[in-house]
Amino acid sequence: MKDVIVVGGGVIGLFCAVRLRKGGARVRLIDSGPEHPTYYTPIASAAAAGMLAPIGDAPSAHEQVALESFDLWKFFREGAEWADGVRFDGGIVVRASEAEASVFASNAARIGQKAIPLSAREFQKRTGFRAKIDHALFVESEGTADPLRVLTGLAMQAHALGVLRDYNTDVASVTPTNVTTHEGKVFEADAIVLAPGAWATNPLMEAAPALKHIRPGKGMVAAIEMEPRLGPNLRAGDFYLAQRREDAVIGATLEFDRFDRKVDRAKLAELHAAAEKLLPGEVRLTEQAWAGIRPMSPDGWPMIGPTGEGVLVAGGHSRDGWLMAPITAEIITAYVFGAEISPRWAALSPERFETK
Ligand SMILES: Cc1cc2nc3c(=O)[nH]c(=O)nc-3n(C[C@H](O)[C@H](O)[C@H](O)COP(=O)(O)OP(=O)(O)OC[C@H]3O[C@@H](n4cnc5c(N)ncnc54)[C@H](O)[C@@H]3O)c2cc1C
Repeated sequence: MKDVIVVGGGVIGLFCAVRLRKGGARVRLIDSGPEHPTYYTPIASAAAAGMLAPIGDAPSAHEQVALESFDLWKFFREGAEWADGVRFDGGIVVRASEAEASVFASNAARIGQKAIPLSAREFQKRTGFRAKIDHALFVESEGTADPLRVLTGLAMQAHALGVLRDYNTDVASVTPTNVTTHEGKVFEADAIVLAPGAWATNPLMEAAPALKHIRPGKGMVAAIEMEPRLGPNLRAGDFYLAQRREDAVIGATLEFDRFDRKVDRAKLAELHAAAEKLLPGEVRLTEQAWAGIRPMSPDGWPMIGPTGEGVLVAGGHSRDGWLMAPITAEIITAYVFGAEISPRWAALSPERFETK
């Protein structure tokens, strides 16, 4: 039986731990934070909107893997205790002109996905909003995960499966076969998976050099009130609305190279103004707002696989960590058990940014 240590208990580390355990590994998960995160815990996964939105406006290098991950969400959700934290109600994409909407629709069609143009009346029916919006499309393959519900559920699932978990424990150094905690405890394993988000320290980067390519990308979201409750996500050019299990949020800002999680009300007001322009009087900002630090990779896609002397990295998930969590776990599990790595998966290698 393989012994695996996963460092980091955000959505990426948790998915990896659960999948590896289900695959037959003995797994230890180590995280420097608490077992039950809140919106204000400094991990990107808790701060996220949680949208699972694999379709964009233009072709992109790893779009098939993104679709694969979206499909895997349904598979992982089946029978999981956190199943009620994920919705597959689709998404409404609003574009500024008919030409832009048709570019989106063609891109979706190219990858075999439906993006159905909505008349202004159909937009009202789908959303319950009073505004008459042109150039909107309904996208079937889209959903939302409620971050806190799913993180807590995944932690419970990991525990129930027998994953050993050490919370409030900092990993100080790593080799391909062991990790040492700040208290000096050493844990041995056959494989080490690093999923530290944007928080990798120098010793982690020494063991896994690819981690040095990850930059912090601060993002803010705010809880909103709106009538009625939105079903699908709404994604416009400069803001989005996501209805989760317990609440709805407007998002999101992006500022590179910032680790502070201070809430900037002026920036949130800009997001709200964009929503107000499209949907006058429908969306109200609440007092509740928070910021998280995304692990941004140079190309916006995750880095998954071995680096350096063989430590496995599951990092750099940028703006799509929730979407890409299931496929990350699948790929990491394949590496750990020596299974075949398809060219599509290999293309996400953390080594792709190393200069030859
Ligand atoms: C405002 C905002 C909105 C977003 N919206 C979306 C969205 O709609 N859809 C989507 O798909 N993605 C979204 N994202 C992106 C997504 O949240 C991230 O890509 C994802 O959460 C990254 O997960 P992670 O597990 O890698 O990192 P994190 O969640 O940051 O977790 C990293 C963990 O590693 C631990 N750690 C770090 N170093 C150590 C160490 N040395 N020892 C022990 N533990 C350590 C930390 O304590 C932490 O728990 C959003 C992000 C933000 C901030």
